[in-house]
Amino acid sequence: MKPNEYYRNLEGQYLFKDIVDRSEAYLSSHPGQRLLKLGVGDVTLPLPDVIVRAIHEAADEMACQATFRGYGPEQGYKWLRQAVIDNDYLPYGVNINIDEVFISDGAGSDLGNLSELFAKDNKVAVMNPAYPAYVDSTIMAGREITYLNCLAENHFIPQLPEEKADIIYLCFPNNPTGIVLTRQELKKWVEYARANGSVIIFDGAYESFISRPDIPHSIYEIEGADEVAIEVRSYSKSAGFTAIRCGYTIVPEKTGLKALWLRRQTTKYNGTSYISQKAALATYTPEGKKSSRANVEYYKQTARLIKTQLEEAGLSVYGGENAPYIWCRAPYGWDSWRFFDFLLQQCQVVSTPGVGFGSAGEGFVRFSAFSAREDCIEALARIKKTLISNRI
Ligand code: PLP
Repeated sequence: MKPNEYYRNLEGQYLFKDIVDRSEAYLSSHPGQRLLKLGVGDVTLPLPDVIVRAIHEAADEMACQATFRGYGPEQGYKWLRQAVIDNDYLPYGVNINIDEVFISDGAGSDLGNLSELFAKDNKVAVMNPAYPAYVDSTIMAGREITYLNCLAENHFIPQLPEEKADIIYLCFPNNPTGIVLTRQELKKWVEYARANGSVIIFDGAYESFISRPDIPHSIYEIEGADEVAIEVRSYSKSAGFTAIRCGYTIVPEKTGLKALWLRRQTTKYNGTSYISQKAALATYTPEGKKSSRANVEYYKQTARLIKTQLEEAGLSVYGGENAPYIWCRAPYGWDSWRFFDFLLQQCQVVSTPGVGFGSAGEGFVRFSAFSAREDCIEALARIKKTLISNRI
């Protein structure tokens, strides 16, 4: 046996460990202090009643001979795939065929597994900074990466690659920068992919946070995108499903990849849990929509609060309007970890160092609006007070 040598090329997962280590070290030298955690990208509000009821009902069905279910269809139940089309695509003028919808156990698995569909010598372009799954799954597959640096001077919008890229990962609204792409900007990428025979893997995990009416919700709102784009979505952040696990991926027939993905899924995936799919279906009921939207709205208000308070503290901040993340430049030219340590030591606030999302994230930290509102208010008051009294 020889292990996959490419795993050696992965960077260690030091980011979250370092954050925990530094937080624990602080607490052990300052007993009795409480840290306010504004770093974590996981939802915190409980599931709405309508979803919990659907989970209970689905579990009860499993307890009864007449309604018990075994393996479901690998691609997902038709009722959920149809609900996805009717609720997430048709209102935006996008026509998707039911065979092009693949229910998943969340975006994370599909974002990693899709890489199996492509030949090894494909060149991959990834935004820098980025959610780590794109880089790591590309490295595991032994492919070359071109980084698309997202810098302040370009408003954190990636520029088209100079060398030809075959596979392009795009994520909007973006984690970690909180930035969105306008229709015009997204069109450039679709045109690039069509001209170069590339495929775009479009991560729309934060679609439900879009506020601006001119921002496309799906890449398929752009003409011709169904020839070149795969779209990955999740109920994790739109409906609080990070523990329930459900999402979906659209692989249009015209990409020429649908049959491959179906084959991959039918071989290696035995379907998303019936209970999770029933829970996902409940998000599309009137009550489900109302309560999921209310939860997203709560996080969005927290994001606005973080953003305005950081601005009042004199910091340069980005994102936070169409995303739960606020991308904040470290003051005084500090690097990400220096600002992280300052926030930890002086304000007892835990953030996420931007450099953990890639080299272009150096000099930034990410704040997350999934944090408890009272903690945010307290944290921001401490940051403002400390920064204003420390002003050099
Ligand atoms: N894509 C992005 C950009 C994310 O931030 C996350 C989770 O934080 C995921 C995908 C994974 O989501 P899921 O819970 O559906 O696996």
